[in-house]
Amino acid sequence: MKKDIRAYTYEQLQEEIEKLGEKKFRAKQIYEWLHVKLADHFSEMTNLSKVLREKLEEQFEILPVEMLERQVSKIDGTNKFLFQLHDGNVVESVLMRYKHGNSVCISSQVGCRMGCRFCASTIGGLERNLSASEMVGQIYQIQKITQERVSNVVVMGTGEPMDNYENFLTFIRILTDEHGLNISQRNVTVSTCGIVPGIQKLAQEHLQITLALSLHGSNQEKRKQLMPVANKYELSEVLKACDEYFRQTGRRVTFEYSLVHGVNDTLEDAEELIQILKPRNCHLNLIPVNPIKERDFQQPSRKNAQNFKNKLEKSGINVTIRREMGADIDGACGQLRRRYVKTNKK
Ligand code: SAH
Repeated sequence: MKKDIRAYTYEQLQEEIEKLGEKKFRAKQIYEWLHVKLADHFSEMTNLSKVLREKLEEQFEILPVEMLERQVSKIDGTNKFLFQLHDGNVVESVLMRYKHGNSVCISSQVGCRMGCRFCASTIGGLERNLSASEMVGQIYQIQKITQERVSNVVVMGTGEPMDNYENFLTFIRILTDEHGLNISQRNVTVSTCGIVPGIQKLAQEHLQITLALSLHGSNQEKRKQLMPVANKYELSEVLKACDEYFRQTGRRVTFEYSLVHGVNDTLEDAEELIQILKPRNCHLNLIPVNPIKERDFQQPSRKNAQNFKNKLEKSGINVTIRREMGADIDGACGQLRRRYVKTNKK
């Protein structure tokens, strides 16, 4: 079996190249081809000798991440991409254009096993983990297709990154390496549904990435209604882990809260949320739930969402309502892939 060369960190690649009997600086060149010039084939690596390219070809491969579909929003220029992986699995990624730069939302798994009730990505369960190479591959393809630089990355697409911890961490190391795309860690956000040991481990890595916690409920019971993962980890433990992340990294944690009409959007919910967030140096992102066909969750009215936000704001909570992007293209998390998988199974 050939080894996936794009899945190595800079240091690991140096070791691999030395094992081939090559000088260390070759690793720098190859890393640049892979992660700066975004080569998809060894034949593109023209500053390497033909002999070395053949050696690489024998032992390694650059696994393809190929665009199957692209949707462009007429409202705000958001792009959704469907990518096919080497084994035929598909994942989706989103490019969002902001004043401060381009942000890409990537998937970390094919499917998901967390089972959050309002999420389309989890309906078919988990197919498999993505490798670090397949995670960077989504970003690289988007840069190549659009010819635009990506400055921010959010790991908020399909999948639970803490359920694929090692690959996720390697992905962060590759993405933020100065020899590669060199995206600033501060411009990377990882979102988790609250897998406590994962958050604790990540805190110990002392990275500068932003941790986003999907809260969605202001107490243990409410969380359980929406997120099966809450059966495994008590809210108090999850919050403790987030505090630890802040202590270890100095990075303010973002809490995400999907507003679901009649489930978690009352003023009592807001009150309870204030009690949780008030003592913490954090940011709250309110997301009116994106309705999916398979479930009958509804968004609160605009006025209700605004009232909810106002109440928190008055208590000194740092809060925003997330702007909906690409509402005219298979909007909600995992819907593009889901439509594709369903159609192709028939
Ligand atoms: N597994 C991770 C990351 C992927 S989901 C996590 O749970 O955080 C990214 C964010 O989108 C999470 O906050 C998730 O709860 C939210 N989300 C998923 N489906 C949604 C929907 N239909 N409407 C609004 N937010 C949704």
